Amino acid sequence: MDFSYPLFQIPFVGYYLIFLAFLFGAVFASFITCTAWRVVRGEDWMLGHSHCDTCGHELSTADLFPIVSYIALKGKCRYCGSKVPPRDLIFEIILGVLFAVTLALHGVVDAAVISALALEMLLLGLSLADWDSGVIPGGFLAAILVVWILSAGFRPDIQRFAFEGVIASLSAGLLIAIGTAIAGKILKTKVSYGPAKLAMCLLIFLGIKGSVIAMGVAVVLGIIFAIVCRARKRKLSLAPAISIGFVAAFLVKDLLVFLGV
Ligand SMILES: [Zn+2]
Repeated sequence: MDFSYPLFQIPFVGYYLIFLAFLFGAVFASFITCTAWRVVRGEDWMLGHSHCDTCGHELSTADLFPIVSYIALKGKCRYCGSKVPPRDLIFEIILGVLFAVTLALHGVVDAAVISALALEMLLLGLSLADWDSGVIPGGFLAAILVVWILSAGFRPDIQRFAFEGVIASLSAGLLIAIGTAIAGKILKTKVSYGPAKLAMCLLIFLGIKGSVIAMGVAVVLGIIFAIVCRARKRKLSLAPAISIGFVAAFLVKDLLVFLGV
């Protein structure tokens, strides 16, 4: 490991920041899983309190600490004692680890890392919404574009890659849309152009090389997801595959810099 890396130059502070990133990840996962759930059910995602899905009791602030509440209550609702599925807990840990790894690899707290964390959170939300409903909510896609517009103001890499990114985005979007249409004709089913739109929104962040990595991973995982969805007789959901591909491309780029390759 290269300890001249900015984050590790002041040893204690670096590890503290990485730990903090984990906590932020857990908190934001808790927020975004709840948001995705409300969007899927058509509830207002800004207002309203969270409630237990079995007894409907409103949850107090003490019930909403990510990870800690789940462990303290042994995975049960405080009011009715029914088991709470560990799904949210798992995603809180996953996003926490993802935030920590992203910061550790990137090495500094800057606009690039903040926008990466924001995207990871949004991708978790839209993947869950897509998995639950088979639809990628447009609000999440709009939020991704907002992150791009905001980060373009602060990130020289995005400014440099803007043209390349737009080309990658348009060509991938067109390819996926054509593929989707052909698949729809062959399988004689209604198809969703959500995955094509999602890929377009994400690839503007990457150059051509990053886009190739992202799409490569997404296609392999997409096939696996398609098989799983078919076996479980559920709606095809491709957002998780595309999201993982994109995050992988992001992390690989930082990993190469980290390893000094
Ligand atoms: Zn309950």
